[in-house]
Amino acid sequence: MSQKEESVSLETLVSLAKRRGFVFPASGIYGGIFGFYDYGPYGAQMARNLKDAWWDAFVRSVPNIHGLDSAIIQNPKLWEASGHVAGFNDPMVECKECHARHRVDHLVGKEMDNLVDYTSLLKEVKCTVCGKIGQYGEVKTFNMMFKTSIGATEDSESIAYLRPETAGGIFANFDQVLETTRAKLPFGIAQIGKAFRNEISPREFLFRVREFEQMEIEYFVHPEDAEKELENWKQIAWDWLKVVGLNEDNLEWHQHDDAEKAHYAADSWDINYAYPFGSKELWGIANRTDYDLKAHSEGSGKDLTYFDTVKNEHITPYVIEPSIGVSRLILAALHSAYTEEEVKGEKRVVLKLAKGISPVDVAILPLSKKPELQKVAHEIYAKLVSDTDLTVEYDETQSIGKRYRRQDEIGTPKCITVDFETLEDQAVTIRDRDTMEQKRVKVEALTAALQA
Ligand code: ATP
Repeated sequence: MSQKEESVSLETLVSLAKRRGFVFPASGIYGGIFGFYDYGPYGAQMARNLKDAWWDAFVRSVPNIHGLDSAIIQNPKLWEASGHVAGFNDPMVECKECHARHRVDHLVGKEMDNLVDYTSLLKEVKCTVCGKIGQYGEVKTFNMMFKTSIGATEDSESIAYLRPETAGGIFANFDQVLETTRAKLPFGIAQIGKAFRNEISPREFLFRVREFEQMEIEYFVHPEDAEKELENWKQIAWDWLKVVGLNEDNLEWHQHDDAEKAHYAADSWDINYAYPFGSKELWGIANRTDYDLKAHSEGSGKDLTYFDTVKNEHITPYVIEPSIGVSRLILAALHSAYTEEEVKGEKRVVLKLAKGISPVDVAILPLSKKPELQKVAHEIYAKLVSDTDLTVEYDETQSIGKRYRRQDEIGTPKCITVDFETLEDQAVTIRDRDTMEQKRVKVEALTAALQA
């Protein structure tokens, strides 16, 4: 659905995601827990498809990008060196009237260099929960890292952190990846994994959560190439979002100004997506200079330089970091795919997800539960599962109309109906999700037809 058309509401997406088994509130039977979500059968598969698409595009098919899977809990010194222990803070404030806690930069709509500037701006600002203007307590900063402790005792020595981003583990493995792969600049290290942030006000469904997955690349380059490589990565990222089905009309660039940019970053850009609640960051792409490698070199005492054989000297590479969150991508993909159509006077909801991203590729639907139809349908299911990479679902409950509607709502591109004629002519009907066209195909030609 184009942003220029009437945009789908967040409530509609939340309700579809729950009703159709994409996303559930975590521990829903206990009333849920703020900022955490569970992925149901279709959400888990869709997330896996997106992660596989990313890994295929940026690791498996790129000779100079190497995969990594580092531990979630690292030596706390890593987060001291990266600046997260001292500086991973967001300004927050409490409304005196209703006690809602807010991130101040979100309330005032911009980032400021200091807390005093925030305090004066807040005098004019309405609480988004109770509507009172300017009734706020003191602006405080709050570290967003989740703490845990290692071992049997809980004291300052045993403190550890759940990683707030996957990048730390990449920098800490820079020298080992370099040594084991014999990489030459430019080269990247990529990983997909969980990150945890104790967000002050998680909200907007999957957009701001406290546990999420990141897909991050640290792309190490010669310092003089950093600007050019940043431009290159901006283009690559934008193009990939189209491949996984995001509506380009809903994408826009946002360049960080000095107040917003991390002090060490030379240049930072976000690809924003026009979510139902506004245009917000989906994918951050930054030139982080040599800050991280130098900081970890200093923190660990380990030499994290690269020997430049042309210049015949050790240099500290610059790094370009494209970093995207899986849950924000899922939300954008659902939003781009959601379509309502009128068919014969009735509303049809269909998720026009991109090829390979929808949780189910093919649904096998025997017209009735008669054993002779079940037998053929099961045989087709088994053949497709063994001969192709397609994700196949078998469904024989409810009327065929309801089953089509269900498959449309989870975005299944093709449905195969096995009917009584199949027993005579060894052919089945393939129904296309987007055009709803039906065509008859011989069972023996089915695999080829589905892979075309
Ligand atoms: P924001 O300004 O929205 O808090 P950020 O600039 O702190 O985001 P980064 O640190 O750049 O985010 O993280 C890289 C990516 O990780 C983001 O572009 C986003 O896709 C994802 N991400 C970050 N925080 C969250 C979160 N709380 N929930 C879901 N995804 C997140």
